[in-house]
Amino acid sequence: MSVNDEKDVRSDEDTIHQFAAPASYFELTNEEQGRILQFQQEVLELVVLGNDYREICEKVCLLIEQLLEDAVATVMLLDKEKQCMNVFAAPSVPEACIVQLNGLRPGPDSGSCGNAVFRQEAVFIESTLDDPRWQSIRQLAIDFNILSCWSMPVRSKGGECIGSFALSSFVRRLPNTYHRKLLEIGSFIIGIALEQQKVNEQLNLSSKVFENSAEAILITDANKVIIAINKALNKLTGYAEKDVLGKSVSIMLSKRHSSKFFQKIWASVKQFNHWQGEIWNRDKHKREYPAWFNITPVRSHDDSINYYLINFSDITDKKRSDEIIWRQANYDSLTGLPNRNMFYDRLNQSIKNAARLETKLAVLFIDLDRFKEVNDSFGHSVGDALLVEAAKRLNSCVRETDTVARLGGDEFTIILSGINDQQSAEIIIQTILLELVKPFNLGTKLAYVSASIGVTYFPDDANSADLLMKNADQAMYAAKNNGRNCWSCFTSNMRVATKIRSKTAYELRSALRDHQLFLLYQPIVELVSGNVYKAEALIRWQHPERGTIGPDEFISIAEETNLITDIGDWVFKQAVNQAIVWQETFNIGFQISINKSPKQFISKMSDWVNYLNRLGINGQSIVVEITENLLLDAHELVVKQLLNYRDAGVQVAIDDFGTGYSSLSYLKKFDIDYLKIDQSFIANLDNESNDRILCEAIITMAHRLGMKVIAEGVETNSQKQLLKAMGCDYGQGYFFSKPLPADRFEAFIQHQV
Ligand code: C2E
Ligand code: MG
Ligand code: MG
Repeated sequence: MSVNDEKDVRSDEDTIHQFAAPASYFELTNEEQGRILQFQQEVLELVVLGNDYREICEKVCLLIEQLLEDAVATVMLLDKEKQCMNVFAAPSVPEACIVQLNGLRPGPDSGSCGNAVFRQEAVFIESTLDDPRWQSIRQLAIDFNILSCWSMPVRSKGGECIGSFALSSFVRRLPNTYHRKLLEIGSFIIGIALEQQKVNEQLNLSSKVFENSAEAILITDANKVIIAINKALNKLTGYAEKDVLGKSVSIMLSKRHSSKFFQKIWASVKQFNHWQGEIWNRDKHKREYPAWFNITPVRSHDDSINYYLINFSDITDKKRSDEIIWRQANYDSLTGLPNRNMFYDRLNQSIKNAARLETKLAVLFIDLDRFKEVNDSFGHSVGDALLVEAAKRLNSCVRETDTVARLGGDEFTIILSGINDQQSAEIIIQTILLELVKPFNLGTKLAYVSASIGVTYFPDDANSADLLMKNADQAMYAAKNNGRNCWSCFTSNMRVATKIRSKTAYELRSALRDHQLFLLYQPIVELVSGNVYKAEALIRWQHPERGTIGPDEFISIAEETNLITDIGDWVFKQAVNQAIVWQETFNIGFQISINKSPKQFISKMSDWVNYLNRLGINGQSIVVEITENLLLDAHELVVKQLLNYRDAGVQVAIDDFGTGYSSLSYLKKFDIDYLKIDQSFIANLDNESNDRILCEAIITMAHRLGMKVIAEGVETNSQKQLLKAMGCDYGQGYFFSKPLPADRFEAFIQHQV
């Protein structure tokens, strides 16, 4: 058909109004109808054969070009993001023209296609060379001899304009009904083809996601029969399609769960359209593993379930790391016992149970005696090994249902539940004490410890975990004070004692300022001559309400509250001043011993030596009494201060010798001047005891190492005589004199002289 045959040539104005409505078949001739039918059939075949969508569009262009001579067809698509149009299919348009068309912005002057998209309606332009709607791309019309151009919007299924379909003629003309029909059908089919392409792309994407997902995915029908699985499922379970397609989904599952468990899951899927959780699976090789499941139903229009979409992953590793984290948070890594956290959990739980069952509960607080010494002398790895062994022994003493925990360091706690009477708890406590005094064989080392145990009962003593723990702790301290290796039951007196302790701590703050502290002096007698030119300064507190208080009642409190440094400095200065006086009145070599607690060494570097230098008095005027254990703790400050004393001539005595962990090498290393044999050995001297042998040994050893020996707590003449016979250098004790105020001390000396 030639353009010249056109019967229906109309003006622009007419076109716009007349073509708003679709062209009607009834206006077509029979022949035209036939051609259109043929055209539709051919295009349909293309679609059905599943050709590529660009190919379909190009074929549509070519078919239409066959039906309209002197014209070329173009499909342009709108790039919504960039708001411009690009050529999608134009098999007969020269490449140079396509290049110029690409990037066309829809607008009132951007040609027929730009207008069709801009106005969202068909645009028929008879003369491109002078129509204002072609203004911005006029050169294109000139360059490629396009004289007229008709364009129609291509719409998606939802009616949205996604591009244009155009016929450009090399002659000036307007479309007749037949042409419009061709355009309509063309743009419609192209719309469908492009829509289909989108759907197919999405399907393609979905299937790619399905296939390449890292999670195992399976699809079942409504009866939970597997109809599809992905690669990841095969990799995880070992099952191939042939193993599982047509089988029930239960092939994936282990037998660990009851059928009730699964009934609940499927009910939840139905009700909430989703379920997720942990299920134990079993793979093709019968390995069972925990899996995290997601189950989603796929419903049809009537809401009935057609399929189930199930994905899952192996969470063995995650569970393992969760478990490790949980263990770290709740268990002690050294002994494997529950830690403080877990202990409190269990205690709270046990309290609830005991309240419900109306039974008793015993809480034990166990502190190992002398553990620090084992640690210090044998090293931490031996200390650790001892704790592990102690934990085992503790566990062996209790029932499976009881809890043994480690709070930290050498502190353990035990919950004994279901106790009917305190007696049954006491039997267990006795067993524990016996177990812990047995020697600990730790590789090459043999270590000895014991335990101090505090016990309290629910509901008798307290009904909260915190209070029970406080009680048990106080009772344990009472056991320590009772000489260790024993147990003590919480009493309300302990609570009172604790209160008194905190009141004392409060009052002690002002004691120094208010001059309530004073020193007593106990003579230290040279056994051979009976001469006294040494004394030990012993502190007292003149309490305004309680009268005179001894150091045993407040020194440990001063240590806890760090008041000991100030108190100690005061004692030192007081003693130095007294020494100066007595050196003038009695003996130029008069010497005063003062006690210095470990806390004083560690809190700061003392400036005692400077003080002595400033006063210009001999370092030998002072003896510092320390305990054996201080030497074990080779704290940098301890070493420094001891060496400082040695250089200044200040002498050092080991107090209470024989009660701590002693090491000859330490005594030598630190240049110790005196050993003070503890009064507990002296007390037994009279009867034929081991203590006598021990004393003799200590004296001999001390003399060999160049040290002098002072016997403490000499209360009888026979003790004095025995010590003298053994070669002991000095004696101190009630036999000679009790600790005395300075003036009475002076009288004592004068009396002696
Ligand atoms: P310590 O250094 O072993 O002092 C000897 C203790 O034994 C003194 O007790 C003394 O009164 C007592 N004692 C002396 N002879 C006898 C005796 O024949 N029989 C008996 N049973 N006891 C006797 P005190 O004065 O109660 O002091 C107790 C502890 O307090 C001292 O033991 C010492 O470790 C500490 N202490 C005393 N004054 C101070 C001080 O100024 N600073 C520090 N850090 N601790 C001090
Ligand atoms: Mg002393
Ligand atoms: Mg002593």
